[in-house]
Amino acid sequence: MTPKKTLRNLITGGAGFLGSHLVDRLMKTEQEVICLDNYFTGRKENVNQWIGHPRFELIRHDVTVPIQLEVDRIWHLACPASPVHYQFNPIKTAKTSFLGTYNMLGLARRVGARLLLASTSEVYGDPEIHPQPESYKGSVNTIGIRSCYDEGKRIAETLCFDYQRMHSTEIRVMRIFNTFGPRMLFDDGRVVSNFIAQALQGKPLTIYGDGSQTRSFCYVDDLIEGMIRLMNGEHTGPMNIGNPREFTIKELADLIRQRINPELGLVQKSLPADDPMQRKPVINLAKKELNWEPKISLEEGLELTIEWFESLIK
Ligand code: NAD
Ligand code: UDP
Repeated sequence: MTPKKTLRNLITGGAGFLGSHLVDRLMKTEQEVICLDNYFTGRKENVNQWIGHPRFELIRHDVTVPIQLEVDRIWHLACPASPVHYQFNPIKTAKTSFLGTYNMLGLARRVGARLLLASTSEVYGDPEIHPQPESYKGSVNTIGIRSCYDEGKRIAETLCFDYQRMHSTEIRVMRIFNTFGPRMLFDDGRVVSNFIAQALQGKPLTIYGDGSQTRSFCYVDDLIEGMIRLMNGEHTGPMNIGNPREFTIKELADLIRQRINPELGLVQKSLPADDPMQRKPVINLAKKELNWEPKISLEEGLELTIEWFESLIK
């Protein structure tokens, strides 16, 4: 009998928010993990606990440059996700999405690895259909300030399916909807971490526009469970993974104020260009193919996230 093979996983963006939670989950199995990151928005502290472990390796590398590694699974997460960070150098963001995915697919093809792409609900742009099923083709501005990210992820999806058609590369494409939890950066710029950081510092919460735009927030543990099931399952995707409970941004601000300090004010700022007005995933495909649905409510997830942010400033 041949011994059971230990899978070797490459996680690009592994020192980031989602990547480091995935590292934790895979390190709890018997699998090997190579964490690759250029530390643009990721931090070594996120994976500190595994440094020195015999099944863990950490590589400083930029995915826009090819790399040769012997791996069985590639979890391709490298790309800044917060609008503040992906708009900091939009040309670099587009390069990371296109060249990074191209390089990782090339690697997957050479070594026969399966690749999962962390795509996004942003491929639907500012959607005209609500909620958004995977069959919706999207409404994306090709020339706006979000386009480097939105179009970057769209071409990344295209590359995956062309590698599958041309080279039979095994792919999994996951469309991630807004996800939050511990290890988001204090200055990450995304709404949940912004509101928590502001509230804990006694500052008013910054509402962009009138706060009537909606998002559906998924807690990180639910998201990672969906990611692992997609990688291990048979369905290539694209597949929405997110929490279908929808909130206005004003409702989110009220929940966070209520928990931290109900006296805090709100300050209105202008709505950034192309900011999607509504977003909510249809998750029937994930339910059917992966038997997956989120279990953690926004309220429970916020509690865990706030406790984590509080522990940072104590
Ligand atoms: P994050 O910014 O915390 O993590 C991204 C990681 O990629 C960071 O560690 C960063 O340093 C690294 N990185 C960026 N450019 C790189 C490059 N050129 N080479 C190597 N490493 C690079 O963001 P996140 O929330 O953890 O997002 C992870 C992935 O999931 C991203 O691809 C993002 O587009 C996708 N996603 C996330 C969400 C969400 O709500 N968190 C939603 C949709 C999609
Ligand atoms: N937003 C806000 N205040 C903030 C940060 C964000 O009102 O301090 C809004 C933002 O305009 C958007 C929503 O919250 O409508 C979600 O923004 P985020 O950057 O978290 O994610 P994305 O727009 O990529 O979904």
